[in-house]
Amino acid sequence: MNKIEIYKKIFWNSKNSIITIDSWKPWKTISIIACTHWNEVSWIFVFEKLLEEFDIKNKLKNGKLNLIFGNIDAFFENKRFVDIDMNRLWSLEKEFEKYKDFERVKKIAPYLKNSDIIIDLHSTTTPSDAFIIPVSNFPKKDLDYLKSDYVIYWILEFLNWIVISAINKNAISLVLEAWQHIDKKTIEISTFNVIILLQRFGFIEKEIEEKIISKKYFKISERYKAKSMNITYTYNQNPKSFQEIPKNTEILKDDWKSWFTNEDVTVLMPSPPRYIGDEICYLMKEI
Ligand SMILES: [Zn+2]
Repeated sequence: MNKIEIYKKIFWNSKNSIITIDSWKPWKTISIIACTHWNEVSWIFVFEKLLEEFDIKNKLKNGKLNLIFGNIDAFFENKRFVDIDMNRLWSLEKEFEKYKDFERVKKIAPYLKNSDIIIDLHSTTTPSDAFIIPVSNFPKKDLDYLKSDYVIYWILEFLNWIVISAINKNAISLVLEAWQHIDKKTIEISTFNVIILLQRFGFIEKEIEEKIISKKYFKISERYKAKSMNITYTYNQNPKSFQEIPKNTEILKDDWKSWFTNEDVTVLMPSPPRYIGDEICYLMKEI
């Protein structure tokens, strides 16, 4: 089934492409948002698995669950975004009114403002293992049970909180990243992680056995924004997330200007630029 058929199957009769499942038992509200970047489309298959295979409508025993489709206009226009990256608009500034993508942000905003827990689903363009970006208040004891090799702190701080957590700083929130846009392993790991979170936070009965999965923890130390569209990664012919780079190594050339490491680091998401000023590469230290 292609993405349009899946979309129709899941969201066609929903209001605003948002499905709310209510257990009618007072408890917390959890919102899961997918396809903020439409090309990260594997997440719609996670919603399908949750609804069809897992039968979440009948399994939700406490509280309320919102399954939110992100950038719907971009999805139908086959673009990552229409005017501007929707994931940079969550601070709801007045100046964003000029962008088409902001109309969607304003539709979704009230659901997120009323949520206690926000799970934001993304996938990476460059090859990468699944990783987790928790907002600082996300409980470590719940992270332990998620399938992922890596947890990365401080990306959101680097993005000045303009990503989704900006909308509701009281909510417990985290971003799940997985490679790649349609990949069976990604869909399976991500469905597992979403179900674990639903059971850890008391929305469903225990469905999956909980086992602690050991992980590496990182903190972002630097990021690089493209100054031109002419970027060549030089530290490795085949740049990928989680490669280690020693001190004083040239990472990339940006219009022939070099960027070097000044300490031993691990690289995250070394990508080609989508536009000038795009964040194309992060450097991290293990903590
Ligand atoms: Zn994304």
